[in-house]
Amino acid sequence: MVLAEQVSKSFGSNEVLKSISLEVKRGEVMCLVGPSGSGKSTFLRCINHLEVLSAGRLSVDGELIGYREANGKLYEMAPKEAARQRRDIGMVFQRFNLFPHMTALQNVMEAPIRVKGLPKAQVEQTARALLARVGLAERAEYYPAHLSGGQQQRVAIARALAMEPKLMLFDEPTSALDPELVGEVLDVMKGLAKSGMTMIVVTHEMGFAKEVADSLVFMDGGVVVEAGDPDEILTNPQHRRTQAFLSKVL
Ligand code: ATP
Ligand code: MG
Repeated sequence: MVLAEQVSKSFGSNEVLKSISLEVKRGEVMCLVGPSGSGKSTFLRCINHLEVLSAGRLSVDGELIGYREANGKLYEMAPKEAARQRRDIGMVFQRFNLFPHMTALQNVMEAPIRVKGLPKAQVEQTARALLARVGLAERAEYYPAHLSGGQQQRVAIARALAMEPKLMLFDEPTSALDPELVGEVLDVMKGLAKSGMTMIVVTHEMGFAKEVADSLVFMDGGVVVEAGDPDEILTNPQHRRTQAFLSKVL
């Protein structure tokens, strides 16, 4: 579903991603871990073309992201085309980024109405079902300010799902939450993984990685240091840098 081939990204002279090659198959969950500044968020942002690649190529569901290929060369897509690709990729951030002046329900309904132009009654039915799926059927008419952080993050997940994405990207979705609210968000993500969603999750929740992920990738300094079966990496990390990192987060 996601194929990254020698993806590099520099900001000026700062090479943040150095030839990253990874694959996530359909229905699989990949957890991405690594120290601050190792390039995790940048990699996620490359996947939905919020960042332009410096080298390499990325495809989602067989479709090259952000570029067209002609005569063996890559040409950057028009912004409108990139936006069309981005619709199929849901993203959930550390900060919930809900629209504060809209209720939970309105937040979930916004994109399908604005972007897809679907009829309101149909969108509302789907949105209510999604809120029920994340355990918030009773909170549909609440504004974000009246929801806990965990509830807001679950609304953010429902909002991303409303666009029927092929792939979900999570960037530290629980790290801004009070500890007692982390579990409810992870539970929703577990349910999503079980339903067959393809997911890439940047997280330091190693319990989640162990239980849910098909693969674990440890990044440091813009390179993949170690990747493979979560159980194996967590119990028997091969590289010193992985060992040092895990000893801090476990
Ligand atoms: P964290 O765990 O703190 O979220 P991260 O692994 O997500 O870290 P990134 O946010 O991808 O790391 O950042 C990697 C490097 O790229 C950092 O050195 C950062 O300063 C740099 N960087 C990221 N975005 C930009 C940008 N838009 N312009 C310049 N430098 C950037
Ligand atoms: Mg980050």
